[in-house]
Amino acid sequence: MFEERPLLRHTVEPSSSFVSHELNSMSMILVMSSSMIGYRPLNRSHLYYCRSAFGVHNEVVNIWTHFVPFLMMLFIYILPELQSTDPRPTLLLLYFGIATLVGCSTVAHTMHSRSYLDHFFWWCIDFSGIAIWSMSAGITRWQLEDHRGEFFDWVFPVLLVVLVGIQFISTSFLFVAFPHWKYRLQLTRMLTCLVVAIYVHLPGALQLFKALFEWTFTPREWLQWQAIIWLAASGVFMGAGVPERWFPGRFDLLGYGHQLFHVCINLVNWNLIEEARVEMETRTTPVKSDRIQIASMILLFSTAAIGYINYYLKKVCF
Ligand SMILES: [Zn+2]
Repeated sequence: MFEERPLLRHTVEPSSSFVSHELNSMSMILVMSSSMIGYRPLNRSHLYYCRSAFGVHNEVVNIWTHFVPFLMMLFIYILPELQSTDPRPTLLLLYFGIATLVGCSTVAHTMHSRSYLDHFFWWCIDFSGIAIWSMSAGITRWQLEDHRGEFFDWVFPVLLVVLVGIQFISTSFLFVAFPHWKYRLQLTRMLTCLVVAIYVHLPGALQLFKALFEWTFTPREWLQWQAIIWLAASGVFMGAGVPERWFPGRFDLLGYGHQLFHVCINLVNWNLIEEARVEMETRTTPVKSDRIQIASMILLFSTAAIGYINYYLKKVCF
């Protein structure tokens, strides 16, 4: 997810075989506001872009800051949980959402600059990962907060599906249909993502603020606050384009806002995982089995629906 730059006036000096000489022929929508140099050439094979993960260009850090967490999710969290004597589905659903997020982001950053159409398709895959991640975080919270009454029992998951649906449709549809619309980024990136983020944290929000005012936190509350703080920081780096807006050209390859956004999201994920693990290990009653079943169904159908929309988009638009 990058902002468009109105005009590119900078000369590109290639610093490696992967750095493009062809930037002037690149559509303006492929040009990031954060980088003036380091673009890969267009229209090469898929293998070329996979190999580029070991080169020097302006997407390398974005690729690895999410590919390494993807491997960690797989080998440190998901496989050991599956191989344990008593796998915990609640944690597995959260792990699935996080692995999908970082996996989709990795392929999107690897492939999106292959062509104009690739750019649209792979960012839709990135938006899909964000939607599945939001859904898994919300549905995990719903399973763990099973003492909040009948209203919360049914209203929360229904509204979650609606809000994540609006988030996904607005990010993907507006990106494909109105890529140059002036307010698209504010509406999709900031507003819908912010609404979903706040909604996911609504259960237990009163206790969270109480803990903050009294400055006395349970381990779980502390982890929740850390997740919120890193999420807010990620929004600043992503939305405001910090620090490159203050020092144009200095962070073209390393240290621009989107890379810092990736690091913050990794920290959000770590806190989400630890919070869920602490709750699972300290709660006196097991998570209700009907909740696990409903949560699994919601995540499964959401993932299938998002997958079908992407398949349809690929068939019709790309
Ligand atoms: Zn990214």
